[in-house]
Amino acid sequence: MKRKKLFWQIYPSYLAISLVSIIVLLLISRFTFRSFYFQEKAQNLLEKAYLIEGNISSLILEKDFILIQEKINYMDKKSNNRLTIILPGGKVIADSRKKKELMTNHKDRPEILTAISGSVGMSKRFSETMKEDHLYQAIPLYGPDKKLIGVLRSSASIENLKITLFNISKQVFWEALVIVIVLSLVIGWYSKSITTPIEEIKTYTEKFSQGDYDQKIKISNNVSQEIYSLAQGLNKMTAQVNSHMEKIIKQKNEIEAVFTSMVEGVITVDPKRRIFHMNLAARSFFNLDEKKVYKGIPLEEVIRNHHLIGYIDHIFTDKSILEQELNLNNQQILQVHGTALKSLQNQVMGALLVFNDITKVRRLELHRKEFVANVSHELRTPLTSIQGYLEVLLENDLKKEDRTKFLGIVQKNASRFQVIIEDLLSLSQIEKEQDNNEIKKEIIPLSPVLGTVKLLCLDKAQKKGINLIVKVNEELNGKINSHLLEQALVNLVENAIKYGDKDSQIIISAKKTKDHLEFAIKDEGPGISPEHQKRVFERFYCIDKARSRELGGSGLGLSIVKHIALAHGGSVALDSTYGKGSTFYLNLPIS
Ligand code: ADP
Repeated sequence: MKRKKLFWQIYPSYLAISLVSIIVLLLISRFTFRSFYFQEKAQNLLEKAYLIEGNISSLILEKDFILIQEKINYMDKKSNNRLTIILPGGKVIADSRKKKELMTNHKDRPEILTAISGSVGMSKRFSETMKEDHLYQAIPLYGPDKKLIGVLRSSASIENLKITLFNISKQVFWEALVIVIVLSLVIGWYSKSITTPIEEIKTYTEKFSQGDYDQKIKISNNVSQEIYSLAQGLNKMTAQVNSHMEKIIKQKNEIEAVFTSMVEGVITVDPKRRIFHMNLAARSFFNLDEKKVYKGIPLEEVIRNHHLIGYIDHIFTDKSILEQELNLNNQQILQVHGTALKSLQNQVMGALLVFNDITKVRRLELHRKEFVANVSHELRTPLTSIQGYLEVLLENDLKKEDRTKFLGIVQKNASRFQVIIEDLLSLSQIEKEQDNNEIKKEIIPLSPVLGTVKLLCLDKAQKKGINLIVKVNEELNGKINSHLLEQALVNLVENAIKYGDKDSQIIISAKKTKDHLEFAIKDEGPGISPEHQKRVFERFYCIDKARSRELGGSGLGLSIVKHIALAHGGSVALDSTYGKGSTFYLNLPIS
């Protein structure tokens, strides 16, 4: 239904009321004027009649009708009032406007009848004699004995009244028209002054309902008290709502920021498993678009993992806090911690799922298990050998040369045992220092470091007739931990001697490249085939286990080198062609 505007409700009704009031006022004033006119006219006629009453009475008693005629003619001329003298029987004895002989008996005229009865008679009617409307006043005339001797009638035309009334009405009409125009403008302005603030309040409430809480109604001073209070109340309400909204938005943003920056994935769903919220981490865990809006979409349509769906159903039925591990297709392992979201009335409103990526933890656990198994295995081998030979030595009466041979084997295994333990200790020490940030680095010249390495390995090299060559610029400095770097380089050089050919040469070099310090140990040994190159830096990895063992290796040497490089923030690399030697690189950051 189309509703009328308030202005069009107020304005026409005010205007109608004003118009009706003006019309009623006009009618009342017209009526009042009319009656005032008649009253005045009648009074005037009466006064004139009373003026000549005595004169006429005495002339009637003298029966001097001719003088009466002259008298009333004279009076008419002076006062412009028609005068008529009638005997009690109704016979007209004199009239100032018409010959008495031509006049009929007047006894039936209402004013004459009243005057004959002793009162003042008044009448207003059309005069057949004068052919126009007249007002009549008739008074009784008495003789000395108080006996009615005649009636004196004074009359005047009231045609003038009509003209006057018409003129007055015409003038009043124009005046009223001006009043109506002025009034309609005033009423229009007044109606507008009532409806404008209401319009403003209407616009305000519309904006408010659309969520604009940052507005204020401007109240002009000439509005009514009620509108002023209403506007003030609304302004106060807006300010409060605005401040509440600001708080809510701030809280929402804070929660949003917390959710977004969390490393844990967070997903909330409603009881129908439709997504309510999903943070960035959760999107990355499940390889989902970072910006897409998933709100309202059933979770199973977004994450196709039936374990997860079953898990959510479990939360809804159990209504308790549950923990579970999820294996994703990409080998990722997530730990999900779920709880039912309940209202104050203890009704389930949805579920909250918190995901932790435990892939690394599980991988580390696996590595640790493998490491423990490897260590046990590596230690068991020399230990079993030592135990076996010792039993033989104890139980049998052996020849001296056999005994010497067996004791030699026991000694070799014992030293292998020691090498493994020392390497393990050194590895764990490096890891510990690295974790605790305890590795001290200082800027020192590198040439002496390389010299020391050569010196430490010289004996072993000479035994195999290997020539050690050091290539380094005397001025080259590096920010290093000299003890650890020496250990790493000695490991590499010892490997090169161990696996290198007799009478070959090993070059130990250091140089500054564009972005790092490069240490290289180049040998002319057997080289390493590509399938082993990737794995040689792993713990206990040996290409030829028997040979390694024979040469007294622990399988931890390159692993220690890698950790020393990592402790310096650097890396290791290997360049080798099977059968043509290898070059091991240690790349450390310049500063
Ligand atoms: P190991 O104690 O057995 O030497 P490493 O960790 O030092 O253990 O070396 C791992 C494996 O890499 C060795 O078993 C060896 O087969 C291979 N390797 C290391 N250095 C060289 C090299 N310079 N030339 C050829 N093979 C090497």
